Amino acid sequence: MKLYNTLTHNEDTFAPQDAKTVRMYVCGPTVYDYLHIGNVRPVIVFDALRKYFEQFKDWRVVYVQNVTDVDDKLIDRSISTGESIEEIAAHYTKAYFDLLDALKIEPPTHSPLATDHIKGMIDLIATLIDKGLAYEQDGDVYYRVSAFPDYGRLSGRSIDDLLVGARIAASDKKENPLDFTLWKAAKQGEPKWNSPWGEGRPGWHTECVVLSHAFLGDTLDIHAGGNDLIFPHHENEIAQAEGARSKPLTRFWLHNGMLTFNGEKMSKSLGNFAYAHEVLAEFGAETVRYFYLSRQYRKPLDYSREGLEEAKKALARVHTMIDEVTSGLASSEETGTIGEEGKRFLTLLGKHRARYVAEMDNDLNTVGAIAAIQDVVSEANRFRGTATGGDRLALREAISLVRELGYPLGLFQEDTAASKGIEDDLIRLLIDLRAELREKKEFALSDSIRDRLQELGIDLKDTAQGTIWT
Ligand SMILES: [Zn+2]
Repeated sequence: MKLYNTLTHNEDTFAPQDAKTVRMYVCGPTVYDYLHIGNVRPVIVFDALRKYFEQFKDWRVVYVQNVTDVDDKLIDRSISTGESIEEIAAHYTKAYFDLLDALKIEPPTHSPLATDHIKGMIDLIATLIDKGLAYEQDGDVYYRVSAFPDYGRLSGRSIDDLLVGARIAASDKKENPLDFTLWKAAKQGEPKWNSPWGEGRPGWHTECVVLSHAFLGDTLDIHAGGNDLIFPHHENEIAQAEGARSKPLTRFWLHNGMLTFNGEKMSKSLGNFAYAHEVLAEFGAETVRYFYLSRQYRKPLDYSREGLEEAKKALARVHTMIDEVTSGLASSEETGTIGEEGKRFLTLLGKHRARYVAEMDNDLNTVGAIAAIQDVVSEANRFRGTATGGDRLALREAISLVRELGYPLGLFQEDTAASKGIEDDLIRLLIDLRAELREKKEFALSDSIRDRLQELGIDLKDTAQGTIWT
């Protein structure tokens, strides 16, 4: 599989280092507000990549995404609303996981909170100071960019270019305007922790370096995020991780393109703005996912209602085929075996499947992958007009194929029929029952519920936000 690697500016062949487990880190949310529609793009894109790895490559994925629960934005919000930082962080963390659930995103394997890993951040900063890569100034600690010769490699710019381009204001505390903050001395009323440099809190760039290492170790397979994070966030992550450990932080850097709103830059003040949960409530998870995945992830994506309406129509075409074929097969009594025509149809389906895989292997080209699914639908529509007798049984394969190919994209996993509601409710009932058993320490029974569901292909995962199933 080829993936475009920002570091090499090339589509490099990807496989996990140990050929089995992909160790993947995606920069997570700062929990001071709801996600807007731009923030949701990496969430959907990298979920698709992860599910593709798991289902089509047979690789296990350990997916880590941090939750930034200490940051200037949270402090500002606390000052403006009067709520405590803890209250704000708890509210928006829950909102984030609710959104993932509603979008049918597989939850990260680990979702560490920044505030649970302050000690690791202090240790990293101390190492950087020991190595001459950082310095303290009045209780603040800064990274010494000039001491890391590779600085600017990811964004492809020299320190001089960056100085001009970034227009970073000079500060009398810093040796160089590009030097970035690793530790901030506490101001009145701010959250703070003890450190060798006095009370304070870590800077944002340190968090991802420490959290990715804590769960995934040295040299990840993939580190991903929006392309607005390349500079300075990811550049600064590399400087810290490689400066401290002398090993590459990751083999692949993947970045998704930005979202525009009706052709313009998204901006709250111009009204070019929408919250993800509001769009989701109106259009539903499938339409939203189809819309985002209808464009190659590295390209800019323009958000518009027309775009979502088109996605809805394109989806309906697939669902209509699934529903009509399903009810057609149920109402007639086809028996016998698949004949020559049916076999020809199955061969065609196989070709579309191969095309889908080739498209996904080509830097996650979901555009081509979706086109392959739509071609399966066209093929099925043509075939069901002419097929007779046992040949009609081959149509079942078209439905299975659409579901298989839709899985990484989060599409076509549920029946549109009424049976879906009761299924969800029954699984929820078993999950609740299991939770009650666990509270009563009836672990043999509670484990047996989980195991038997797993035999049916239903996986339960216990998270800080409760048990979820896939
Ligand atoms: Zn990050």
